[in-house]
Amino acid sequence: SITVVIRSPAGLRRSFASSRAVHLSACNHFVSHDDTIINKTETDTHFRLAVKDNIATAGLPTQCASAILGAHASPFEATIVKQLRARGADIVGKTNMDEFGMGSYSTNSVHGAVSNPLSEDERLSAGGSSGGSAVAVQLGDADIALGTDTGGSVRLPAAYTGVVGYKPSYGMLSRFGVVPYANSLDTVGILARDASAISNIVFSTGLHMEHDPSDPTSLSRAARQRCDRASQSQLPSLHNVTIGIPTEYNIQELEPAVREAWAATAASLEAQGARIVPVSLPSTKEALCAYYVLAPAEASSNLAKYDGVRYGVRGADGDATGDTLYSEARGSGFGEEVKRRILLGTYSLSSEAIDNYFIQAQKVRRRVQQDFDKVFGLENPLYEPRQFDLSEMSADLELADKRGPVQVDFLLCPTAPSFPSKLRDLETKSSVDAYTNDVFTVPASLAGLPAVSVPAWPEQSRLPVGMQLIAQYWDDQRLLFMASKLQ
Ligand code: GLN
Repeated sequence: SITVVIRSPAGLRRSFASSRAVHLSACNHFVSHDDTIINKTETDTHFRLAVKDNIATAGLPTQCASAILGAHASPFEATIVKQLRARGADIVGKTNMDEFGMGSYSTNSVHGAVSNPLSEDERLSAGGSSGGSAVAVQLGDADIALGTDTGGSVRLPAAYTGVVGYKPSYGMLSRFGVVPYANSLDTVGILARDASAISNIVFSTGLHMEHDPSDPTSLSRAARQRCDRASQSQLPSLHNVTIGIPTEYNIQELEPAVREAWAATAASLEAQGARIVPVSLPSTKEALCAYYVLAPAEASSNLAKYDGVRYGVRGADGDATGDTLYSEARGSGFGEEVKRRILLGTYSLSSEAIDNYFIQAQKVRRRVQQDFDKVFGLENPLYEPRQFDLSEMSADLELADKRGPVQVDFLLCPTAPSFPSKLRDLETKSSVDAYTNDVFTVPASLAGLPAVSVPAWPEQSRLPVGMQLIAQYWDDQRLLFMASKLQ
């Protein structure tokens, strides 16, 4: 019999002999592949790692919570999993998610929705798409969980379940063996109870400097060294840190209690010596629309390979050929949201629409990046160092704009505009309503910047509010240090 040790949120330990099935159906955050949860003894060097179902693991299926992948088993393991095994990770299971990472509530899964353990009378969403990973950490089934964050999928579930969710700088952690959703945005993210646990794994063990030749978007060794030299090695003290409050994030739709928690967090940082200043990120309003053009466009191309021939299980008619074979496999294998994204993406890339959608969205993406670069005190280390040529200066708008008065170390804003929704209410919510939930997480994704969601617990509320900190590219270590100060 298998013993599953569950640590309750209060830190109490409850043991259940052979209760895996009960536990799984109650929370549905682990995907119920056989032998996904194994009893391990904890040692100093070993830690329990839960892995999102879109990250390839040896010995366990990798299904992306999609029917089209059946019980697909990858012949190789993702680099990030290997790297963590080498650092003492014992894999406790694959976690439930939105199919292929598409969603914000972990409801778009062939295994059913993930429930938030903080639910009382009614089941609440755990956030998505890495909802299972967040819950595994929240319940203490795992010390660390891997998720993926394309537009907020690690930060949002962290915010809803009250754990820490970190999205690294784009290109820092290897994506080899991670099923692509939108390559130009995809990152592997890490969830844990506290920010220092994440920092220990990523920085104390040198993970952040490991280039992966198998991942074409993994930053080269030379670039890593350059970024490292450019970043400030000194960890911030609250007395010499400037934190920007992006005024555009104070939207009308923001739930009052979330706004209050945001103000309270800023006030507490100020009381501890930080300088708090308002800043403007004018392109924020367009970022969400740009994301929902770019991400489906890339997804439509990535998902073309699931056709029942190259990848994916075939539809019911085993004798089908050609287009019928494809449409049967894709029609029955993909869920509604995935189909919607494929259609959206295929349309926006079509010759009649590309100029109005894809190209415009790329321009917005550039502006979002420039907005961030203007407010951060640190230069973006990916750019070549500037030659200060006075004759060119007036023509260089970007440079002229950089003269603004505030140069901040970090930005502080909520991770999500509201508290977790009831799963029942989500059944009638339109997909566009769901997209709006990503409004605060997509800007950092579009700019490739590191961001972390840290739980704040307002006094009168039994649910946490995720506070998001965003930093300049490759300023991840200081970001996580700052996050640990927020906890
Ligand atoms: N909710 C966003 C989407 O559906 C982000 C998902 C993610 O980061 N994987 O695209």
